[in-house]
Amino acid sequence: MKKASPFEIVAARCWNLLNEGKPFTPIFVLGVFLLYRIGEWSDPSFWSAAGLGLLVTLPFFVIYYCFDFPLLLRNYLWLPLIAALLVWDHGSLSLYLLALGLFFFFTVYFWGTFYYHLRIGTSWWNFTRFWKLVLKNSDSTSGNAQEQMPKFLLLLLIWNHFYSVFYPTGSVAVAPHLLAPAIFAVCLWLYSYVLHANLFDWKPAEDSPLTDKSGWPETAVNEKVIVIVIDGMRKERFEEANAPFLKKLRAEGTEYAQMETVYPARTVVCFSSMFTGTYPREHGIRSNMVWKLGIKVESIFDSLRKVGKTGRLLGIAHLIDSMGSDVESVTAVMHNDAADRNIIERAKRIMDEQNPDLLVAQLIGVDQTGHSRGVLYDEYLQKIEEADRLIEEFVDWLDNRGMMKNTTLLICADHGQADGIGGHGHLDEGERFVPFFLHGPSIKKGLRIEEKHSLISIAPTLAYLLGAPVPSSSRGTVLSESMKTNADRERKTS
Ligand SMILES: [Zn+2]
Repeated sequence: MKKASPFEIVAARCWNLLNEGKPFTPIFVLGVFLLYRIGEWSDPSFWSAAGLGLLVTLPFFVIYYCFDFPLLLRNYLWLPLIAALLVWDHGSLSLYLLALGLFFFFTVYFWGTFYYHLRIGTSWWNFTRFWKLVLKNSDSTSGNAQEQMPKFLLLLLIWNHFYSVFYPTGSVAVAPHLLAPAIFAVCLWLYSYVLHANLFDWKPAEDSPLTDKSGWPETAVNEKVIVIVIDGMRKERFEEANAPFLKKLRAEGTEYAQMETVYPARTVVCFSSMFTGTYPREHGIRSNMVWKLGIKVESIFDSLRKVGKTGRLLGIAHLIDSMGSDVESVTAVMHNDAADRNIIERAKRIMDEQNPDLLVAQLIGVDQTGHSRGVLYDEYLQKIEEADRLIEEFVDWLDNRGMMKNTTLLICADHGQADGIGGHGHLDEGERFVPFFLHGPSIKKGLRIEEKHSLISIAPTLAYLLGAPVPSSSRGTVLSESMKTNADRERKTS
């Protein structure tokens, strides 16, 4: 039952620099260029020419940092590369081969094999599967080969070209050479802007009004809520899995058949939205790479404190970046077959020792298997089936302690997963709608709600169930259709 160590918390943040596509591209290009020219480092004019060449390339770094090219957008990145090859000389084939070689070494071997082996115990042969995931992955992580390749090749081509222009003199008599990159940069910015304005259509519509509290009950609907988030559980894969306990809960509770995640569908972003009731633009967590620690708005944990109640969020170290001391962290450095068992044991201990009114537990095995082995293989289904057994055991354990009598269970995923390394964020197939159902004495039985809802409804629904104020920026609607009315309850007792 290991907690995440301070080292792990920092290491997880550093890893994100290489994991998220935005910071990866410039770091990778810088590393490749310097490595390629390692023999010239002792020559002072190398540094001045490389520095001036980098200055000319800077606008291109900025454009490719600002604009992600996920999903179908990445197909449009090859055109600027071809244009650059026509405008400038083709440069150095050996530089491009080095870049491609290092990229696939980094993603397929270092990340997909070495890193996963050390962290979650995947086999040393994982590269035999992983290269396919790297080629397919559509999200803007560093593991998206189809986005990263045309990006870093263009940046290297331009930098290397202007390096040769400036070398060895570092002279400024090169002003005529600067017109072409200036025009090219303006065109690339326009091109990216127009593409995003017209083709970037997968961001879900956002509710704007704040959560309406009229008609809320005066007191708590029930005593406790247990939320179990099966991280990265893709909806149709859950349907295919043999998960009898979860499917029984769903059948005996209320299901939301069209529960939509938020954009971008990265774990820390989703959790922040789920427990504040609002969108990334407002809570401030826009990717797993959290530059400024802490959400900017109230969370359900703050709401509970206002009425003297407690909530705990049991999850991976990344969540501390967003929700700080409300998180009970678990280490993510553990064999993936042991991770969820470890989390469930820790959840029991929290219930024993702290008995919070709200417990949120994040199971990570399914997501980690999706990332490291792909979601369209049997291992992924097996992990869902294991989660089913573990949740059954946990609920029985709570039941035996009398903790389920007046408790609502909420089971969901934070996002689904597309196929491939780092495979979620931009709402590719399989990411957008997540399994979501409620169960308990206050929840209607056998109801299936088809209307579209958003995961931001979780925070206000928890506030409603536990008799707490809504978090101040909550915009979600309460999932009250799922709850029994007083009349339903009286009918039952009479
Ligand atoms: Zn997640």
